[in-house]
Amino acid sequence: MEVSIIFLVVFVIIVLQGPLLKCYNFLYEKRQYKLFLGQETVYHAIVSQHLKYYNRLNQENQHKFLFRTYLFKKAKKFHYIEVEESADMPILISATAVQLTLGLDKYQFNFFRDIYVLKHDYHYGFYSRPFEGHVDHSGIYLSWDKFMKGLRGDTPNCNMGLHEMGHALAYVNFISQTEEDKHFKKEWTNFSKVARPIFESMRQGAKNLLDDYAGTNYQEFWAVSVEVFFENPVRMRHEMPELYSAMTTLLRQDPITIANIRKLAA
Ligand SMILES: [Zn+2]
Repeated sequence: MEVSIIFLVVFVIIVLQGPLLKCYNFLYEKRQYKLFLGQETVYHAIVSQHLKYYNRLNQENQHKFLFRTYLFKKAKKFHYIEVEESADMPILISATAVQLTLGLDKYQFNFFRDIYVLKHDYHYGFYSRPFEGHVDHSGIYLSWDKFMKGLRGDTPNCNMGLHEMGHALAYVNFISQTEEDKHFKKEWTNFSKVARPIFESMRQGAKNLLDDYAGTNYQEFWAVSVEVFFENPVRMRHEMPELYSAMTTLLRQDPITIANIRKLAA
């Protein structure tokens, strides 16, 4: 008798696990939404001052962009290393991740709880050249001065924040497989049909709009493509139309016609 009761309880827990989790997430977001509304003005002031991309969204999508930014920031622990913390830092870093994933359903990068903000370039592992940022199992690392240079558009085609978020997006989908976006994963195969031959040609020495660094390996090709896609979309569409088109499909957004982005889930 007891065994059958235990079996029944376990069975019920297994069956209800999915719906209960959904219900919890729904209630959590509802509560967070109320808290977010009290801070929306602050978020808008910071993000609109620095993100050209955000300013081109329509009002409805700006609202959803900021709510995603709020949830992303809330889920992360930010560490400041030899750099003075300021209120805009975690908001702008979160907003950069949200920009990349605005057309996707999954945007939290939940594998990464920790984000490390460093003042300048830094040395990592056994590499001799300094790093501007990197992503590994322990977190997302960004140098603040390079991050801001990317936001200001100081260097053409470069946006280090978007570059690292590109790595993080690939990481949660393909390495940790902890936050797989169905559309992104499915469409990656089609993206690679276009992207791989371009990458291989760069390995053979071909030059194009992408920085030579894209030829280092396929992950860097992806991260550099993300930067150019957002920083120089008109030229990318003109000079690399197939790659541009594949990225608009993969990310479900077109930076040239950004105001028309599809309706977001959250
Ligand atoms: Zn990289």
